[in-house]
Amino acid sequence: MKNSLKQSTNRINMLFKNFKTILSVLPLLLLFFSISLSSFAQKINYKIEFPAPQTHYTSVTIEVSKIPKDKESIDFVMPVWAPGSYLIREFAKGVENVKSDSDIEKTAKNVWKVKTNGKSSVKIMYDVYGFEHSVRTSFIDASHAALIPTSIFMYVDGMKDEPATLEIEKPSDWKTISTSLKNKDEKENIFDIPNYDILADSPIEIGNQDILEFETAGVKHSVVMYGKGNYNKAKITKDMAKVVEEATKVWGENPAEDYKFIVHNSRYGGGGLEHLNSTSLVVDRMSYGTERGYLGFLGLVAHEYFHLWNVKRLRPFALTNYDYTQEQHTNLLWIFEGFTSYYDELLLTRAGFVDDNYYLNTLSGNISSAENKKGRHVQPVTEASFDAWIKAYRPNENSGNTTVSYYGQGSVYAAMLDLMIIEATDSKKNLDDVMRYLYDEYYKKQKRGYTDEEFQAAVAKIAGKSFKSFFDNVVYGTQIPDYATYLGYAGLKLMVSENTSKATLGIRTSESGKNLKVRSTERDGAAYKQGLNVDDEIIAADKFRVTSNGELAEILQYKNVGDEVELLIARDGLLQTLTIKLEADDTKGYRIDKIENPSKKQQKVYQKWFEKK
Ligand SMILES: [Zn+2]
Repeated sequence: MKNSLKQSTNRINMLFKNFKTILSVLPLLLLFFSISLSSFAQKINYKIEFPAPQTHYTSVTIEVSKIPKDKESIDFVMPVWAPGSYLIREFAKGVENVKSDSDIEKTAKNVWKVKTNGKSSVKIMYDVYGFEHSVRTSFIDASHAALIPTSIFMYVDGMKDEPATLEIEKPSDWKTISTSLKNKDEKENIFDIPNYDILADSPIEIGNQDILEFETAGVKHSVVMYGKGNYNKAKITKDMAKVVEEATKVWGENPAEDYKFIVHNSRYGGGGLEHLNSTSLVVDRMSYGTERGYLGFLGLVAHEYFHLWNVKRLRPFALTNYDYTQEQHTNLLWIFEGFTSYYDELLLTRAGFVDDNYYLNTLSGNISSAENKKGRHVQPVTEASFDAWIKAYRPNENSGNTTVSYYGQGSVYAAMLDLMIIEATDSKKNLDDVMRYLYDEYYKKQKRGYTDEEFQAAVAKIAGKSFKSFFDNVVYGTQIPDYATYLGYAGLKLMVSENTSKATLGIRTSESGKNLKVRSTERDGAAYKQGLNVDDEIIAADKFRVTSNGELAEILQYKNVGDEVELLIARDGLLQTLTIKLEADDTKGYRIDKIENPSKKQQKVYQKWFEKK
């Protein structure tokens, strides 16, 4: 983490500046730090150039100098993932033409070993291809470069905590470099890198972007706009400032410095990735013009901004320090992503962009998505967190049957915990207090991430009581939460509607031209049990030709539960007939209603929930 690492490095630096004094006074200390001494003097300089950006390449040079004589070789390591996006992406696959001014050998999929041969400095040079337009990958073309540093910069093994510099040589027709890295000596293309973690967490936009600015919560914010979009500059900065203020209120302080929202306005949005003092967003360029699209944009801003605290500073224990070479598993993404999703919706309500009813509709929609997923009976949300790397980020046709979303389900559980805490404290505390406590205790005081147990203890401390059975059975198990009780605390009730008279095959389909195919089958549904498979092409139903889902639905709508339908299908190019007995649709509809005469206590819980004064 930024503060702890940087400060300790600086302290060690100071100690060695006063080396002689320390030697005379504290010989033991010297012994203790002798390993650091040998690496302290080394220097790392990164340089990137764009000789032909239209080919989507950047050229990288890393020079390590002042290498101690006894050091035989230096390993340069390419990260395999980008923090915040829990998938092994193998960034080394974009690296080519690796050279050195000394002997070099590739020793692993992402490691290059350079022999020093007694020299005091060595260089590694390589090109990186970037043409994947997403917030987790780099993209370079004739108009700009959007760089995600873990996909561009190798680190020097054993020197991740050392300071470095970065020089950017941009094409002459690109005017601006936007990044949260700080300029070195006021030079606009040279940057100070306090350590590799900070470089890795500072995306860089280079081109002719439009820059909007606002200052709020004592922090300068820039909105770096690449690409055309139908946004109104005055409105967008005013509204983003409101989001920043509401997020800051939750945590009580704003640790950002010169925060950058790097926005790629594109035909097809969206998504975002959080960073230490910035975020990368992809936004549908026309979405600012509709109410729904604009709320979606503000929600994305709220989500990524909330991460400034939740996951970038306050972290799960397993992610206290990043290991760029392999997966880092945690049960807690349901908090770090789920709670962030909860607050991105709640903050829009607190900021007054939408009213309480809008939020209640959103919450019932989230409950509906979570509870109608077959995977909710199979996978606890904590297991979904742990297995994000192999399941959430690698979905297949069976994912709906076996997994849950730690975003959606996590946000629902956050809402329930919030209500439980407010009720237990007679409306004196809410989930904000838990977040603030965790931030103070683990980020600021202990300078580390927190464990599963420490989270539950923090909730118990703020609420004044333990919610052990909720955690054991609902969060770490697959039990459905007692929605009626928790919503009842705030004078609300969950209305559930059933659709069991509807006869269904229990499939989702996809259409391409005149081809109708099975895209997924629902666990324990008619198709699943009776052998209609994913990828089967449905050609006819009851001898009627069907070419779309609408035509299939027309035939099914007059049938009852228990009736049969004869399907002509093509499977792997062979025709066959299947007779399937239709079953009842078990999809449930959810709505949250306010009860007619809420008690004083219920009204107080409701007010506290939305932080209404
Ligand atoms: Zn997120």
